[in-house]
Amino acid sequence: RAVVRHYSPMRSGVFSRARTIRAVDGVSIDLRRGETIGLVGESGSGKSTVGRLLLGLEPANAGQVLFEGKPLAKMDSAAWRHSRARMQMVYQDPLAALDRRLTVHQQIEEPLIIHRLGDTHARRVRARELLDAVGLQSHHDERYPHELSGGQRQRVVLARALATNPDVLVCDEPISALDVSIQAQIINLLVALQQKLGIAILFISHDLRAVRQIASRIAVMYLGHIVEEAPTADVLFHPLHPYAQALVSAVPDHRGLRRDRIVLKGEPPSPANRPRGCAFHPRCPLVVDVCSQHSPVLREVGPGKRVACHRLDGVKAVDHRQIEVG
Ligand code: ATP
Ligand code: MG
Repeated sequence: RAVVRHYSPMRSGVFSRARTIRAVDGVSIDLRRGETIGLVGESGSGKSTVGRLLLGLEPANAGQVLFEGKPLAKMDSAAWRHSRARMQMVYQDPLAALDRRLTVHQQIEEPLIIHRLGDTHARRVRARELLDAVGLQSHHDERYPHELSGGQRQRVVLARALATNPDVLVCDEPISALDVSIQAQIINLLVALQQKLGIAILFISHDLRAVRQIASRIAVMYLGHIVEEAPTADVLFHPLHPYAQALVSAVPDHRGLRRDRIVLKGEPPSPANRPRGCAFHPRCPLVVDVCSQHSPVLREVGPGKRVACHRLDGVKAVDHRQIEVG
């Protein structure tokens, strides 16, 4: 059975003082068992909001989340709790995510106790198994979070997230707070865990370099919308949306060679002041009249490939390195 999480047209209004900000609008994502989707986009584009909506941590005022085809909102409380335990969040800052008063071992046993999984002995064994799975040796068991390195803490967070045998992990910038040398270790660990356990991961990051190591698909967000979604290689080597092209141009390619950087003019806009038409049009190198009038729909442009851009036909013909920007 494929595990499918689905957002059909969804709006999340986040109240800011007297105003409502439409942080995410019309986002639809299918996350299948064993698959990793990388969700990228600049700060404020709505990535974390999507992750929080998925786990029900943020209320959506339209749309729905389906878990194994069933709407989460319509489940009775027992079914909801069961489904919800199978979806876990991993945040950026492991120190904030851990309880400072608990040892490593206790951190892992806690969710087992909450979900009434096993007796004392079984929990001890299971906690050790989970810590082994994330590569944390037993001499750390009695340590407290502040006695661990950042990478070790994130391993503890992962072990705890895995305690309830989740099918879905939402990882929100899980490596951004770590040293560069440790980042690769955590990515490799996530890849290994995913292959072993078959979990689905929504990997939220503004770092395309990290995303391309783990994700089979990438969804690019801009100001609350998905502007491009495609298999990882397509986004990296043949991005179609002008914003995706700019994003990709800032990252060295897989051989470490720099591409010709597309520098976008203008400031990243705010969702409180959303441009009319295509939200990207004030910064777009390919802008034409229609862009400021109508919002482009996300449309299928190839197998598993969706793009929202009025200039798609024009864009296709242009290599992203040759686009001139003002
Ligand atoms: P980052 O890369 O900085 O984590 P993000 O892509 O995760 O950004 P979100 O945190 O989802 O972006 O925020 C989307 C928009 O919603 C932003 O404009 C943000 O300012 C706004 N927002 C999010 N949470 C709140 C809140 N509690 N109150 C007001 N505005 C909010
Ligand atoms: Mg965020």
